[in-house]
Amino acid sequence: MTIDYIAPGSSLGVLGGGQLGRMFAQAAQEAGYQVHVLEPDAHAPAAQVTATHLRAAYDDTDALHALARAAAAVTLEFENVPASALEWLDAHVQLAPHAPAVAVCQDRAAEKALFTRLGVPCAPHAVIACEQDARDPRQASLLPGILKTARMGYDGKGQVGVRTLAELAEAWNALGGVTCVLEQRLVLRLELSVVLARGRDGRIVHYPPQQNLHRGGILFASFAPGAELDEATVCRAIDAAHAIAQGLEYVGVLCVEFFVLGDGSLVANEMAPRPHNSGHHTIDSCDQSQFDLQVRALVGAPLIEPRQHSAAVMLNLLGELWFDAGGRLREPDWQAVLALPGAHLHLYGKREPRPGRKMGHLTFTAQQADEARARALRACAALGLAPF
Ligand code: ATP
Ligand code: MG
Repeated sequence: MTIDYIAPGSSLGVLGGGQLGRMFAQAAQEAGYQVHVLEPDAHAPAAQVTATHLRAAYDDTDALHALARAAAAVTLEFENVPASALEWLDAHVQLAPHAPAVAVCQDRAAEKALFTRLGVPCAPHAVIACEQDARDPRQASLLPGILKTARMGYDGKGQVGVRTLAELAEAWNALGGVTCVLEQRLVLRLELSVVLARGRDGRIVHYPPQQNLHRGGILFASFAPGAELDEATVCRAIDAAHAIAQGLEYVGVLCVEFFVLGDGSLVANEMAPRPHNSGHHTIDSCDQSQFDLQVRALVGAPLIEPRQHSAAVMLNLLGELWFDAGGRLREPDWQAVLALPGAHLHLYGKREPRPGRKMGHLTFTAQQADEARARALRACAALGLAPF
């Protein structure tokens, strides 16, 4: 397809109406574009901020036709859109990222095969596609491990820890007998991620990697910069992320998550074909956010290396914060949080808080990383979150 610049005033489409779609829409609107969102849920975060909400399933033919007619280009905030819908859009409208790149990100087995082909190390693993694979005694070398469904996993969902071969067979059945990846459980020294954007012309720009802290399989906090990230690790992670974007001929924003092991080696975990939770701090800490870059890559505007002007710590605000010790609904103490300097509170407009549900995030910016950490720690105390 041609590489035409799509001028402000045009309409852009986004598949998925969650918080990532909402923040994309806000960035696109700021840059002068109209946004159409395709999303089945009437009250979804992005539907609240866009003028046009196509309320339908992601593979609804009429809705896809309407989106392709209305929008000059389409992106996504959610990778688990049916492949057929992405392929159709790719053929009928400027889609970024392209369908084949998203297809790789939809499937942990394909993702690991790509990492391996590109020489990017990943966790020792095996694809468990059938009962026989699940019962194969050779899988013992990967135990203790984590069995992850190859498709549709997020926020630690679709994952089971397994210690023995018997547990492996049991877990595979419990996950519905679908294709899974069994990964060796690695001892992680730390986690980090690289968010980059690649344009249609092949130019890549990236943010400095952030260090990520997970609790219960869900991102709890991101630190930019991370206190434990050394220069050599950062360089290796950036090089690997660039190689992946290049290898996929990727267009758009891509995030690659990495582990650092006890011996200092770097292992790619997974990737996301869109802005990522660990990059939310860029809204407040950088001169261009990851959503600004998503808009630029989509419309064919120049990609300029983003500059981080403030140190930042981002905390995720999960649904449990909306319940008191007795399980009664309450509003978190925003007054206490907003009294802290450098606080940027982002709430996604979700109506129903549920434990583990991402309701918003809170970024603390400061001149120095230590200062941002200290502020975030005070916010943890005010909100009743365990300190990091
Ligand atoms: P998300 O979509 O939120 O990134 P996910 O459900 O796709 O998460 P993963 O990224 O695969 O899940 O895993 C979530 C977290 O679980 C990781 O960030 C890491 O903390 C831990 N984890 C995953 N795989 C391994 C492993 N092989 N060894 C040790 N820890 C792991
Ligand atoms: Mg992950």
